[in-house]
Amino acid sequence: MKALGEFEIWFLTGSQDLYGEDTLRQVAENSEVIVAGLDESDAIPVRVVWKPVVKNPEAILSACIEASASGKCVGVIVWMHTFSPARMWIAGLQALTKPLLHLHTQFNRDLPWTEIDMDFMNLNQAAHGDREFAHIEARLGLSRKTVAGHWQEQRVQDRIGIWSRAACGLYEAKHLKLARFGDNMRNVAVTEGDKVSAQMQFGVSVNGFGVGDLSDAVRAVADAKVDDLVQVYEASYNVAPSLRVGGSDRESLREAARIEVALREFMTAGGFGAITDTFENLDGLKQLPGIAAQRLMADGYGFGAEGDWKTAVMVRLVKVMAKGLPGGTSFMEDYTYHLDPAGPKVLGAHMLEVCPSISDKQVSCEIHPLSIGGKSDPVRLVFDAGPGPAIVTALMDMGDRFRIVVNEIDLVAPDKPMAKLPVGRAVWQPRPNLATATETWLMSGGSHHTVLSRAVGAEVIADFAEMAGVEFLLIDADTTVASFKKELRWNEAYYHLARGLR
Ligand code: MN
Repeated sequence: MKALGEFEIWFLTGSQDLYGEDTLRQVAENSEVIVAGLDESDAIPVRVVWKPVVKNPEAILSACIEASASGKCVGVIVWMHTFSPARMWIAGLQALTKPLLHLHTQFNRDLPWTEIDMDFMNLNQAAHGDREFAHIEARLGLSRKTVAGHWQEQRVQDRIGIWSRAACGLYEAKHLKLARFGDNMRNVAVTEGDKVSAQMQFGVSVNGFGVGDLSDAVRAVADAKVDDLVQVYEASYNVAPSLRVGGSDRESLREAARIEVALREFMTAGGFGAITDTFENLDGLKQLPGIAAQRLMADGYGFGAEGDWKTAVMVRLVKVMAKGLPGGTSFMEDYTYHLDPAGPKVLGAHMLEVCPSISDKQVSCEIHPLSIGGKSDPVRLVFDAGPGPAIVTALMDMGDRFRIVVNEIDLVAPDKPMAKLPVGRAVWQPRPNLATATETWLMSGGSHHTVLSRAVGAEVIADFAEMAGVEFLLIDADTTVASFKKELRWNEAYYHLARGLR
């Protein structure tokens, strides 16, 4: 069962009419075997679909147009078993609107040293056929991923799988609709952005709605639906005594459930994949959506607090890209530090809205006062993120372009239990170390809101950025402040020039 099996990657094998019938039949048979192998690979979450070998400019163009028009095809893999003069590919590649992966592989892993003859050499020509094809990719300046190695190698299949996840993310970005309740938190800079530019760059449609639309819907929710959802809470979480039947805050739990029912119905009716809200605009709502936002995220929706639609978009996209993988993904905020030189750490959390998918243990459902917003105490889920490698990703609007920055981190257990901290939270050590990671993050203008994912690594975000044509910065074990500073400078020049005159 493929986690993203509704999507397809098309596999195009290049050749030319010059080869005799026997060789071309062999090319087709071999590429069918490769495609079947990739399609069966657990590392690749989409269907890999074989297409007839393309041998002339007309066939190449029509295959590329067909892939571009297909509603299921999210990307194209191209491979040259034999030699395919690359000028034949110019029109097709210029017409291709789907992400491109150039697979540099060979049908046979090993040279048949003692048996090799000219027929074998003429059939297994990727070593120079792929160089000819790559030349025209470079000459056309195509955005692409190049993966080299034998197609049965795990590393090769893993990288194809990662790229196909990014391609599904791009597909989702082009179809995503985001609903905003209220605007951005007043005076905040990093959560702002150009929604027209975002739609041009990613495809996502971001639109605002009055909180009144939601509060009317909350008041209209039938009691029976509230009863059902409260039962789900009780079955899923360790519910605090005051929220249980007869408890002093029982009505607050029912109100939280009422908000969740209304939000879900709103999202479903409008076809929305992500939402934002803000504590500064809760007109008609009795409490800030806490458990509702957390549970919507757990079901794969994007969420951003304080009107942060860019992070809400990234939460949704990473959730799509991570589908079927263990680990979880959440909206996150760098909150406070432990600066002991013996083991410096970041404590990440939010006022309420952290997704319980990043927890490995029992989640508590609690109610506590919120120091901002001036509303009733909100119900929220409380937990610690599980340990292990993860990434935090931020998307910023730099004014002339979007920038994505990723930091590889290691989630760790808190030094001591944080019994008085009533939120979902995560503790981590950023790579390469806290000082370098934070210095470079700040140099990049990276936001305090991020997407934390235990499910995917940095490569899927890098692939997505490449496909979307967005600047990508990585802070990992190899990062130094000096090299990062140069990269930022070079990127300024590159993106200034690449944008051209408009
Ligand atoms: Mn925040």
